[in-house]
Amino acid sequence: MKAYRMDAEEVLKELGTQRAGISQEEAQRRLDADGYNELKSKEKDPVWKLFLATFKDAMVIVLLVAAAVQLALGEVVESIIIFLVILLNSVISVVQTKKAESSLEALQEMSAPSAKVMRDGESKTVPAKELTKGDIVQLDAGDYVPADGRLISSESLKINEGMLTGESEAADKKTEVIEEDASIGDRINMVHSGSLVVNGRGSFIVTAIAQDTEIGQIANMIETAESKQTPLQKKLDEFSKRLGIGVLVLCILIFAAQAARLWFGDGQADMTQGFLNAFTFSVAVAVAAIPEALSSIVTIVMAVGTTKMAKQQAIIRRLPAVETLGSTRVICTDKTGTLTQNKMTVTDTFVPGKSEGISEDESARSKSEQLLLNIAVLCNDSSVSEEGAEIGDPTETALIHFGNKMGLDPARLRKEKEREMELPFDSDRKMMSTVYRLDGERLMLTKGGPDVMFERCTHILIDGEEQTLDEMLLKEVMDQNETFSDNALRVLAYGYKKIPEDKRSLEEQDEQDLVLVGLTAMIDPPREAVPASIAEARSAGIRSIMITGDHNTTAQAIGKEIGLMEEGDLALTGKELDKLSEEELDEKLGRISVYARVSPENKIRIIRAWQNKGSITAMTGDGVNDAPALKQADIGIAMGSGTDVAKDSSAMVLADDNFVSIVNAVGVGRTVFDNIKKAIGYLFAGNLGAIIAILFAVFLNMPNPFTALQLLFINLINDSLPALALGMEKEEPDVMKRKPRDINEGIFSGGTLQSVIVRGVLIGAAVIVSFYIGLQHSTEMGIAMAFTTLILARTLQTFSARSNTQTIFKVGFLTNKYVLGAVAICFLLYGVTVLPGVRRIFSIPDAFGWRDWSIATGLALAAVILMEIIKAIRNRR
Ligand code: ATP
Repeated sequence: MKAYRMDAEEVLKELGTQRAGISQEEAQRRLDADGYNELKSKEKDPVWKLFLATFKDAMVIVLLVAAAVQLALGEVVESIIIFLVILLNSVISVVQTKKAESSLEALQEMSAPSAKVMRDGESKTVPAKELTKGDIVQLDAGDYVPADGRLISSESLKINEGMLTGESEAADKKTEVIEEDASIGDRINMVHSGSLVVNGRGSFIVTAIAQDTEIGQIANMIETAESKQTPLQKKLDEFSKRLGIGVLVLCILIFAAQAARLWFGDGQADMTQGFLNAFTFSVAVAVAAIPEALSSIVTIVMAVGTTKMAKQQAIIRRLPAVETLGSTRVICTDKTGTLTQNKMTVTDTFVPGKSEGISEDESARSKSEQLLLNIAVLCNDSSVSEEGAEIGDPTETALIHFGNKMGLDPARLRKEKEREMELPFDSDRKMMSTVYRLDGERLMLTKGGPDVMFERCTHILIDGEEQTLDEMLLKEVMDQNETFSDNALRVLAYGYKKIPEDKRSLEEQDEQDLVLVGLTAMIDPPREAVPASIAEARSAGIRSIMITGDHNTTAQAIGKEIGLMEEGDLALTGKELDKLSEEELDEKLGRISVYARVSPENKIRIIRAWQNKGSITAMTGDGVNDAPALKQADIGIAMGSGTDVAKDSSAMVLADDNFVSIVNAVGVGRTVFDNIKKAIGYLFAGNLGAIIAILFAVFLNMPNPFTALQLLFINLINDSLPALALGMEKEEPDVMKRKPRDINEGIFSGGTLQSVIVRGVLIGAAVIVSFYIGLQHSTEMGIAMAFTTLILARTLQTFSARSNTQTIFKVGFLTNKYVLGAVAICFLLYGVTVLPGVRRIFSIPDAFGWRDWSIATGLALAAVILMEIIKAIRNRR
């Protein structure tokens, strides 16, 4: 029979499980038999397909044609080398794609969904894919349901099943048996994989996993998330296309010039051979001009950046965030747990009518004092084991510790008393209520934020007597609340209400007409590195803003303590914000550094206001209701401890919940962009150098300074490795001292274009001079000189490309071992071209000796030294 038509106990029996769950071994056995709880994903392209795909590239096709032409001309060695170039380029491209793919997968793995399951009688968090039939899973607001199942408990549980039913309203979930066949939307005692818990909590028996779930049957395959291109990658792609067209025109011109020379020449040369050679040379020029490795280098540098961020606890979920992070101007952050340690300790209490707090001596306690302690531990879902292991919300574990300290034995008390009903805590209501029987009376015990509690209390308990809460009494409690809050303490208020015997369910409306019992105040110290991090962000032109659910005074006190709130800054509550018009908010926005008691709508309004000012805004969040704000932000940042839905809506997840990790990630984001710029600058400068030399020769009617083969070889060796090594540069010392980068700023801004041109012209000049010197002996010598100078200058340029502003002496020769390695490998590979036997292929005549080498080296070094001198002069200015 269908699980929804069966009693929960029957389902338990049928699946061989119980309310305390199955054992770990049993779970393993079932996993081995039934497989993992994951939907089949679309198969990835195998390596050979990726490899073949590289041959679709226009450049590769042209090269293939060139190789065929060479073969037809009988130039077997040349054509083999062109094939090798193509092959190597394809292999490198496949390796890079695979590497980027695997680092993205590793990131996805890190933010994979998890589930709270009972195993061996204890609650455990396991990866959702390890769930199996018969598991008992707990659900809380914000969780995605990890499998299909039959509910065994439900407390105000509401689930949005829109993806299955098309219904946008969340469905109320109950545990009662359904008597007849029902459609998915009517199976109110079932939960379905992929739906979202929007309110309350519950637990269910897993009845179906993976492909057997309702969603598994609809979506037979899930598409593995397409890795979206970042804005920079898109811009670069467009740029490459335009560059390609430019280069094409250039190559046609070069071909035309050479053809004209043949046509109008002395007529001695073999025409066909001459044209075909001119064609191959033009193709080689195109290869030399276009940095083929561009897009894969950008992907890899980003992947390296995300790995580094992950090590620093910031897990990127959407690649474009790496880039956006570097442009962030505003960080809107939660307080509790992000700026503070979320390690709460009760330091003070207040009981009306008593000047000091709750007495430590049990026998001296009044009824009010005892009741306050009872509410603190009974209106509480957390637990602390005998060994001190804490489970649950730190605000609540603090109360358990406090109960222990007061000699209450919360664990025993909670075993003795049965919880009859409850309204779980949610951060919108800022309250929580449970129903217990105390001293024969059925009471609703409530705790919550003082401001919301005061609004709902009509009476106050003084010396065991309920009195009307008049203005004078209220003022006394409110003053006490302010005093605590001024000291950065988190205050909770406690109340109760008698509940009629026949009342069977608890609604939010019941949280009215309460009797106020007292207050507790707890300290939550700021995280140690937070003040330094806020200062660092400030010097990097980034504004940190606290947006908290906590009380205004407490928030301000902490804001001041950590340096987030400065002289003249404003603090606003959500209610005050609601009263401001758009214009008023716009005018005040820059001065507000703390928002307290905010609602999710407030968060969205604050982000929009900053975005309207053109500021890239990051926002943290953890709850169900934070999802829209996290999506609205330019970078949504979810807490590692937060809900599934918050993580799902975010671009980044903070594994350690720590504000400091955001600022660190911004630093890495900026460095990633810097390094991409360096790699690209290096590629373009080198290519420009070669092109300048070629154009100079072609249009001055000189012989070609390089052979096609030489150009292809240089391109092959010089393009990838040094550029990648530059992508691994450490951060620049001023990375967190500059203002954020404008998001629309191109890759060639900030002096990059000038330095590319300077470096390109210098390389080109060195090659031309060298070519000229060689030509004095013979054309062959000229070509050999030009080739060796270009090799040396391009490779040595790697050092210069390490910084746009600092000279290599400042940066240090040994500070990037990847660059050293890349340069060494380049020289090693170039060494092949001078080996006896091989040198002929690369057109290096036997006469080319050490003296010629010295001249080439001297010229290349001179070019690089000049680059550094110009950099130093520009820097001075
Ligand atoms: P932040 O938004 O910076 O994380 P926060 O932790 O104060 O701050 P919430 O967890 O939404 O935000 O809590 C909002 C308010 O609800 C708290 O300031 C407190 O007054 C009250 N509160 C927090 N936890 C509980 C709880 N377990 N039971 C009852 N009330 C609570």
